[in-house]
Amino acid sequence: MLKRLKEPFQYAKPFDGKMAESKDQMAGGGHARSKPRAKNMSGTLKKMWNYLFEYKGKLAAVIIMVVLSSALSLLGPYLAGTAIDHFLINRDSGFAVFLIGMAIVYVFHSLTMWLQSIWMIAISQKTVYRMRVQLFEHLHKLPIPYFSKRQHGELMSRVTNDIENVSASLNSSVIQVFSSMLLLIGTVSVMLSLSPLLTLLTFLVVPLMVLGMKWITKQTGRLFKAQQRNLGDLNGYIEETLSGQRIVKAFSQERTVIAAFKMRNERIRVSGFWAQAISGFIPKLMNALNNLSFAIIAGIGAVFVLNDQITVGTIIIFAEYSRQFTRPLNDLANQWNTLLSAVAGAERVFDVLVEEEERADEGAAKELAEVKGSVIFDRVTFAYEGRASTISDVSFELTPGETIALVGPTGAGKTTLIQLLCRFYDPSSGRILIDGHDTRMIKRDNLRSHMAFVLQDPFLFEGTIHENIRYGKLDATDAEVEQAAKLANAHSFITRLKSGYSTVLKTDGSGISQGQKQLLAIARAILANPSILVLDEATSSIDTVTEIKIQEAMQRLMQGRTSFVIAHRLNTIQQADQIVVLQDGAIIEKGSHSQLLARQGFYSSLVNGQLKNGMLNETS
Ligand code: ADP
Repeated sequence: MLKRLKEPFQYAKPFDGKMAESKDQMAGGGHARSKPRAKNMSGTLKKMWNYLFEYKGKLAAVIIMVVLSSALSLLGPYLAGTAIDHFLINRDSGFAVFLIGMAIVYVFHSLTMWLQSIWMIAISQKTVYRMRVQLFEHLHKLPIPYFSKRQHGELMSRVTNDIENVSASLNSSVIQVFSSMLLLIGTVSVMLSLSPLLTLLTFLVVPLMVLGMKWITKQTGRLFKAQQRNLGDLNGYIEETLSGQRIVKAFSQERTVIAAFKMRNERIRVSGFWAQAISGFIPKLMNALNNLSFAIIAGIGAVFVLNDQITVGTIIIFAEYSRQFTRPLNDLANQWNTLLSAVAGAERVFDVLVEEEERADEGAAKELAEVKGSVIFDRVTFAYEGRASTISDVSFELTPGETIALVGPTGAGKTTLIQLLCRFYDPSSGRILIDGHDTRMIKRDNLRSHMAFVLQDPFLFEGTIHENIRYGKLDATDAEVEQAAKLANAHSFITRLKSGYSTVLKTDGSGISQGQKQLLAIARAILANPSILVLDEATSSIDTVTEIKIQEAMQRLMQGRTSFVIAHRLNTIQQADQIVVLQDGAIIEKGSHSQLLARQGFYSSLVNGQLKNGMLNETS
């Protein structure tokens, strides 16, 4: 039995958590590694359309502007060609008026281009603003199991990267693809109406263009993908080594780390070089083929002119159109990929939005104005999705104000019991009663408002110490915050800080010690003034002075409240009214410290084995 018990205690893991986390984020960033493709293209496009349709007035205006600008850009070369025939060849009068007309055409062309882009940007920003709000709100309504199944980095990348992808492509790609298509159709129609034969000659280069583009995009696609993958790899590596800096230094691994970094960096350089070099070839190829097409038109066109089959102006129009005609082709090829990845991004956003929210409270669920704090676990059984059994047949009763210490090796189910208590999960059978009410019949918000948590590694938000404490009761006055800090033994260390209560804390809590973080968490809980308290004792070593302060503050906090303590310190456990010893999700022993010692069972061997360092469980 002792062997079983000792196992979990052997895993001292100072940095493992962080290293694992950074890998999560790497994987999250991994979304950039391969070009995403939408699984349900038409469905996603339909949903996107619904978003855009909210702004139908503006959208119609954009479409009108795109049509106008396409028409005007077709008109420009046509007018130039006509001018040559009229004023250069035929020497007609009215050149000045014509020039003004042309100037107006070009000015209007710029104006319509500018308006369409400004309006589309407005639409796209409003759309992604709404998407971001909806996604963020929805994420906060999703049940806890959703998050435990996914990596945070991956979810974050949906709120940031994916939405940004959608935004970028709505800003420009949508208009470009639409106007490119219009231009293409317009140009070809006008060309055909002017001279079907010359049109056909212009088209001679098209197969070459398409083949060339296809080859290049295939190569660059592969290379860009490799570059993204290498970049993701490097990012992950940098993140990992930076967050594990202490380990790197402690094991003198700097050189190995730098060598591994150089190798990754080199991979990016090589793939980056080829990707850029080959993709940079696209405009050159297009230019060459354009010139070829121009030469064909000029050469054969000249023969037609000499035979009086066509005017010089028409040749000029053709030359210009053949240039215009390759541009939309080029743009379409360029924008297509961006558009596809934006649709894929949108799909990932919609995937989250269709996830089922935390189940609504039962219709008859009520709110308890006051909770005295009696808690009954009545034959509670529970299993995480896909697992056999995590908690089996757990029963105990607490009268208001009592303290229960949960003891047991890692994985015994202590955290799970707490998660059931605050209804992150519901038992598969059995009941949890608070003041005689089944927790399933109490509204979740209300239930949680009667509880407060002081966790091992308290979560601090980026903000001042004052704001962090006030999180326990948002409408607390400054005096109340200070009072809570005093009761939590935190006031003296806070006032010693240069900016006192206004000291800004970072999310990772850097700047204050682990013990001080605990004191702030206790202050927060005192301010919340809950009837039920959950304490997860810190296992990390804290200096003796702070330790005493924490113990004292905890005792004060627990006074008169029903408390669940995931206990590691013998001292805390001894003072508990009840001790529940868990193993593999079942209660194996239950009673007070002296009762359990007298039993000479699991608990007593645990105490005897671990008494030397005063800690019962290494981790939980
Ligand atoms: P303790 O807090 O005593 O260390 P836990 O309650 O965290 O134990 O875990 C009990 C068991 O449930 C463990 O075997 C653990 O691997 C498993 N478990 C914990 N969380 C989840 C989860 N979200 N999904 C699946 N299994 C889980």
